[in-house]
Amino acid sequence: MAETVNGTEAPDAPATATPSTTGTRVLTSFDPRTGEVTGDYAQMTASELTRAVREARSAQQWWGNLGFSGRKRWLLDWKRSIARSAKDLAEAVAQETGKPYGDAYLEVMLAVEHLDWAARNARDVLGRHGVHRGLFAKNQVATVGYEPYGVVGVIGSWNYPVFSALGSIAYAMAAGNSVVFKPSELTPGVGTQLAESWSRLAPNQPVLQAVTGDGSTGAALCRSRVDKIAFTGSTATARKVMAACADTLTPVTIESGGKDAMIVHVDADIEQAVEAALFGAFGNAGQTCAGIERIYVAESVYDRFLQQFVAGAKRLRPGADRTASYGPITNDAQIEVIREHIRDAIAHGATAALGGPESIREPYVEPVILTDVSEDSLAVTAETFGPVAVVNKVKDLSDAVARANASAYGLGASIFTRDLKTAQRTAERLRAGVVTINSVLGFAAVPELPFGGVGDSGFGRVHGADGLREFSRSKAIVRRKYKGPFDLFTLDRKPRHLRIARAVFKARHARG
Ligand code: NDP
Repeated sequence: MAETVNGTEAPDAPATATPSTTGTRVLTSFDPRTGEVTGDYAQMTASELTRAVREARSAQQWWGNLGFSGRKRWLLDWKRSIARSAKDLAEAVAQETGKPYGDAYLEVMLAVEHLDWAARNARDVLGRHGVHRGLFAKNQVATVGYEPYGVVGVIGSWNYPVFSALGSIAYAMAAGNSVVFKPSELTPGVGTQLAESWSRLAPNQPVLQAVTGDGSTGAALCRSRVDKIAFTGSTATARKVMAACADTLTPVTIESGGKDAMIVHVDADIEQAVEAALFGAFGNAGQTCAGIERIYVAESVYDRFLQQFVAGAKRLRPGADRTASYGPITNDAQIEVIREHIRDAIAHGATAALGGPESIREPYVEPVILTDVSEDSLAVTAETFGPVAVVNKVKDLSDAVARANASAYGLGASIFTRDLKTAQRTAERLRAGVVTINSVLGFAAVPELPFGGVGDSGFGRVHGADGLREFSRSKAIVRRKYKGPFDLFTLDRKPRHLRIARAVFKARHARG
């Protein structure tokens, strides 16, 4: 029997389709630091997926009927349970991604902040509320409310398997949807732990389930007639997801790659900029969608910035232990991309101010800093997703903004300057979903801020009020309160009423 939450008991429902390894194919996950097996999971078949979606649909009825306050109680209980076992979850993240335990724990903490915010704010953002009626509908009461889609399929990436997954899952659930979650094949253990933490709370109501498998499971989820897909991953896979969803007109949200630029203006606090650049470019081994991959520095401070940046990067140490600066390249296929980008940049005339192809010591990559990199080389145009930073000199701020914006991607960007007016003006000119001033990645800790990109970085938003609306359909309701003195919405309309309306219309809109 289900646990009770503040007196609300989850009624009986079909059993959860928990992943099993009884199928013919098994998905094995590994610790990228050691190559050791961390677990075996089901490579779920299409029929198991269909069952999971069917059960999610049934659980959604219960979940949707709970209303905002009922769901809030369950979600806050779920939050407490994740927070209490944060250590276990962080260990699973560290094991499957290879990132240092401290980074993994920080990821869990930030994700829980988002879950808490979504639970507490869903009613205010999505609850039915009145809107202005306009001149010709004074006799009407007009309201708008937001309803859940139903079942949302969440397809996740491996680099932040808790934070980026909950960025969709928490907001989708708070909006009243049930979720079928397909974690990356590199992090099935983390995905399974998240779903189990829900099913321990409400074993009979599979509002959240994990379906483990490889890309084919993700493709099957796109075709499974869920009501929306929230995809996080590469731009190349995003295209396949959209194509698959087109067949069934399933709406999609795409959170894909980035090539974020950081601008260092003439008056920047260089120490502060260097510290942020080290974190943004090399944290998580550069495997951050909104990590810093390009740095554009004003000529007059270029040498000082570069010298301090190189000195700081020399102190970093990738490794497997808890005190390492960052871990390995989680996805071994990425190593070749990183190698190609470094070689291509050097072949196009770049200088390696630190490291080079020899910095790759699989599964680790030491920090690489490339300077004078041609703007059309791969290290500038394509997502490297490794600890490789391009540092190019720029003439002035306009040059910096033009180069920053000359990317197919547009996820995040940052500007370092002491002049707040310059910072604000520049932020508004940068083509990105989020801009940080004198910091990098700080937005991740602000649940109220929407997150998402433009161009090849995707569309739609997670987090904040926009993130809640992303997982809801608006529904307008208009009620006639009384018969108005001027009824224009009738075939018995009086010519005099239309004449008066025309005069009002002209006075309001055609003058001046
Ligand atoms: P991938 O595109 O390789 O995979 C993403 C997810 O899609 C995985 O679960 C994958 O499954 C699944 N998948 C693969 N093929 C298909 C398919 N044909 N149909 C449906 N699903 C499929 O990305 P990564 O996991 O390598 O993640 C790294 C990328 O994610 C980077 O580009 C990064 O910038 C981006 N990212 C973006 C974020 C954002 O918020 N904008 C946040 C975090 C990462 P499987 O792993 O089993 O192949």
